[in-house]
Amino acid sequence: MARDRSPKCKQCRREGMKLFLKGERCLTERCAIERRSYPPGEHGRGRIKQSEYLLQLREKQRARRFYGILEKQFRIYYAKASRRSGITGEELLRMLELRLDNVVYRLGFAASRAQARQTIRHGHFLVNGRRVNIPSFQVRVGDVVQLKTASPVEQVARDATDLTASVPAWLQADHDNLSGKILKVPERGEIDAPVQEQLIVELYSK
Ligand code: SF4
Repeated sequence: MARDRSPKCKQCRREGMKLFLKGERCLTERCAIERRSYPPGEHGRGRIKQSEYLLQLREKQRARRFYGILEKQFRIYYAKASRRSGITGEELLRMLELRLDNVVYRLGFAASRAQARQTIRHGHFLVNGRRVNIPSFQVRVGDVVQLKTASPVEQVARDATDLTASVPAWLQADHDNLSGKILKVPERGEIDAPVQEQLIVELYSK
């Protein structure tokens, strides 16, 4: 399965903010944003001419990198969101939030979305008792997500729960049993993605 292999800290520096792509390291002073908060590259510290297009592009790239989605897949999400009856930008974020890899991360069973993706791909998570190894799987209200019994990554998941400050209100997590439930579809206010989704809609509507 294709994935973005570009250096994670460079992605954060390009977007000018912490995207928390590396798990525990992101919480330490070794975080590249703490040490070099300017964009990467030879001209990183030069002046960048802002334009409407650049703002929209950056917003889209930030969302894509935050959720770890490739361009083609992101466009597919946008196309699906635009066919829904709700506000397109919010529908887009909702679909991204309801991906299984994001839910595993939000529940606190992985230190990053990348780690969640890897453990899901290796078949360590069950949804409603059945193994699901597709990180983009869309969970639904009422679904129960849990780590497989006696999984070799149990300690990894337990360590990740120690890093988790809070679980969003639309999820219910049981860190002792490493399981969680989707209580409701998240409202925009419950999605803490650092993204102005309207700019993404404007970009794709051109
Ligand atoms: Fe981003 Fe984490 Fe790297 Fe900091 S340590 S720059 S938050 S990926």
